Amino acid sequence: MNQPEQWPAIPEFELFASPLAGGNMHERWMRLALDEARQALEEDEVPVGAIVVAGERVIASAHNQREQLADPTAHAEMIAITQAASALNSWRLENCVLYVTLEPCPMCAGAILQARVPVVVWGAADAKAGAVESLYQLFEDGRLNHRVEHAGHVLEAECGKLLTEFFREKRRRQK
Ligand code: ZN
Repeated sequence: MNQPEQWPAIPEFELFASPLAGGNMHERWMRLALDEARQALEEDEVPVGAIVVAGERVIASAHNQREQLADPTAHAEMIAITQAASALNSWRLENCVLYVTLEPCPMCAGAILQARVPVVVWGAADAKAGAVESLYQLFEDGRLNHRVEHAGHVLEAECGKLLTEFFREKRRRQK
């Protein structure tokens, strides 16, 4: 945390009205999401982690648990959103920022919209399933009744490396 000048500048943050605005702050929270992703890796799950921050407080912290729960909806963001709603006792996650190590898929982007999450910060792009930038731009779609401020590619190398290594190891084991 004591070498902020080495962090990449992320101009999108300038757009944020959030009091949390600022690349260093976003990267600090993303590191907590990365800790969750590493936990997923420990559990032999696709390593994706997510946290939800309200004010300065982490109110949800989760990782992908699709295999363990045998649940196709058990993506990190889905679990984190449920936890956050439970913590706030409200389905509306107003004033929350969701951090996730991988670009949200259509299901998770849908849940983010349903939960009215105002700001999402994501790590690695997902060329095969990303619904924020890569395949779809659901957060920019004016036909939907909620817009989400978002910034991607935050700590992208670290977030992506976990995934690349996980799938490489999987392939190696399958041989
Ligand atoms: Zn998802």
